Amino acid sequence: MKKIFLLILIGTLSIGCSTQKVFTKTDYDKALPKYIQTIKPDDLKTQLYVVASEEFEGRATGEEGQKKAAAYIRDFYKKNGISSPVSEHVKDHFQHIPAGTFPRIRKDTENVMAFIEGSEKPDEILIISAHYDHEGIKNGQIYFGADDDGSGTVAVMEIAKAFKKAEKDGYRPKRSILFLHVTGEEIGLLGSRFYTDKQPVFPLENTIADLNTDMIGRVDEAHKDNPNYVYLIGSDMLSTDLHNLSEEVNKKYIGLDLDYKFNDVNDPNQFYYRSDHYNFAKNNIPVIFYFNGVHKDYHKPTDTPDKINYDMLAKRAQLIFATAWELANGENRPVVDKK
Ligand SMILES: [Zn+2]
Repeated sequence: MKKIFLLILIGTLSIGCSTQKVFTKTDYDKALPKYIQTIKPDDLKTQLYVVASEEFEGRATGEEGQKKAAAYIRDFYKKNGISSPVSEHVKDHFQHIPAGTFPRIRKDTENVMAFIEGSEKPDEILIISAHYDHEGIKNGQIYFGADDDGSGTVAVMEIAKAFKKAEKDGYRPKRSILFLHVTGEEIGLLGSRFYTDKQPVFPLENTIADLNTDMIGRVDEAHKDNPNYVYLIGSDMLSTDLHNLSEEVNKKYIGLDLDYKFNDVNDPNQFYYRSDHYNFAKNNIPVIFYFNGVHKDYHKPTDTPDKINYDMLAKRAQLIFATAWELANGENRPVVDKK
């Protein structure tokens, strides 16, 4: 009698442990709006006033200010329980790039990264990237780089936080996500080039897409009367699937005007080649580059955090988050059907 009771008890307990609900794709779709709303203008603002502060001295590659920014980003991930990828190439969130790796890397520097492992397809990796370096101090003036690319830096951090919150509630992404903060962008896209050409932390053939953000906190002259926009570059260049998914997600959840004005390899500005996504695209990895266009403070000491439109920064970060959610949790990875 006693024995049977014990068996029933153990049986009940083990059922209790193993019945953690497995969410379906429909559950994930229903849950998405709730996590979109966790990305807030005020949080982005708080972070950006630190990242683009005097203390970080314009974050020039290899300089003290860049190191301080790297430590700040790493500590944010630690505080939020978002781990470092486990790899011979990464130590405690840092991918070390030795001085001399490329001629323009004159001092040691580092990419910073965080990782959430997928539940069903952990070997398939989605990358969400932004460069955190900027121009540093020139002629005694700090180049704060609030929009370029402090805005993308804090967006990636808050997107990671939203994914972590969902994970805690049982909505772990089905594919893995790498949150990648690259250095050396302003001196030639070198942090991302180090990642793709020298030390991919995860195999490039398993990398399903790169969503790259470089300047998403301002409103350019062309949109001053309608700030509800973002320029998208590259979404249809390698994968029709990626472009369609991006369009649908925006229509369903966000409602920004997606402006494709610069989405042309022959555009005289050549934006497709001018930020870190290009190092992924050249390896046939589908990319989307999110961008607000240039403005009068572009690459000037006056690119400061008081000039950011935080509501728009939040909305663009929400679009990237929602797109990433669909890419991480969708049935199939986006097919590369173009060259
Ligand atoms: Zn930039």
